Amino acid sequence: MAVEGLSALEDAIRHDLARLQYPSRTWLTPRRTKVSGAPVLDVLVVGAGQGGIATAAALRREKVDNLLVVDKNPLGRAGPWLTFARMITLRTPKHVTGPDLGLPNLTIQAWYEAQHGAGSWEGMGLIPKETWAEYLAWYRELLEIPVRANTTVVGVGWDSNEGELWADVEQDGKRERLWARRIVLATGIEGSGQWRVPAFIRDVLPPEKFSHTRGEIDFDALKGKRVAVLGAGASAFDNAAVALERGAAQVDLFFRREKLVDVNPYRWAEFVGFLHTTGTYPTLSAGVLSGRFCAWASSHRPTRSRARPSTRPSRCGRVVRGPVSPWLAIPCASQRPKAPTTSIS
Ligand SMILES: Cc1cc2nc3c(=O)[nH]c(=O)nc-3n(C[C@H](O)[C@H](O)[C@H](O)COP(=O)(O)OP(=O)(O)OC[C@H]3O[C@@H](n4cnc5c(N)ncnc54)[C@H](O)[C@@H]3O)c2cc1C
Repeated sequence: MAVEGLSALEDAIRHDLARLQYPSRTWLTPRRTKVSGAPVLDVLVVGAGQGGIATAAALRREKVDNLLVVDKNPLGRAGPWLTFARMITLRTPKHVTGPDLGLPNLTIQAWYEAQHGAGSWEGMGLIPKETWAEYLAWYRELLEIPVRANTTVVGVGWDSNEGELWADVEQDGKRERLWARRIVLATGIEGSGQWRVPAFIRDVLPPEKFSHTRGEIDFDALKGKRVAVLGAGASAFDNAAVALERGAAQVDLFFRREKLVDVNPYRWAEFVGFLHTTGTYPTLSAGVLSGRFCAWASSHRPTRSRARPSTRPSRCGRVVRGPVSPWLAIPCASQRPKAPTTSIS
């Protein structure tokens, strides 16, 4: 049954956590570096997105209290939700759990219903991204996760003299060395590689003529203009939709595959045997995965797009493929070849 009111829900969560708190003793003795005697964190978590704060919450529940989470973004703006994610809602279905650590009252459903009343959750389709960010901020504050914002980790390593791991952080132009027994990299999509604009664009066009979807884009400046998007994945569609909503005259998406990707593999991956494969059930799940995805994908093709069906002025959007894709160079307007097109409505 839904708890009514946020403060009643917070009391219930504190109550649940207290009941489940066994053993309650802390067990890690405070440590200092061997030579310089600097304080050592038990765990340093890099990244205050949902992964980082949920990790910190789980550690605190296990009585690992001497920890710190750092994030290069301002407080409350970790992860993509309030910056470069330009979809209206999460794509993940709302019933997916995770940060709640198994406590029903800590789910986004409980948080939402406490504020909007019983039945409100059923009335919501997918979760608006701002709502998800708000839930994460509430979660972080309620569970008292110590986050140091505007702090970038610029290097990590092991110091054999000091006998500890180190992380160099930069905040407000100042560099500092932190020490830790363990470092968790919860750096999300930013930690997976590098944002890159292909050289044939970066080296040819003036900076005001192109943007990466990760960056800040002045969509109002695109009003009345033709816009070309390189790629036709989720972010390509999201950014194209925003450009059209803000008055771009036409947006073309270019891609090199034979067909648009129309299956979301994450939906397939949502079963315990996959999500816990390498950790909890290595023996049971052996062999479960092979060949399953193709079979699943062929029977799970969406019949319609859920992306902005009501707001997108689709008459102006086109998906382009063929001789001009992949982009290998940017020809002058007069040399531009004609490409086969598909409507994205
Ligand atoms: C446009 C878009 C839409 C998405 N939609 C969905 C969706 O619908 N459902 C879904 O499940 N997932 C979605 N994702 C994936 C989403 O990124 C992750 O699910 C979620 O954000 C992962 O959480 P995380 O904590 O691992 O990483 P993040 O939320 O990315 O958080 C990582 C944090 O680490 C910080 N960081 C990185 N490097 C450093 C450093 N050196 N020093 C300090 N801080 C650092 C980053 O600034 C960031 O704040 C989407 C991603 C994008 C880009």
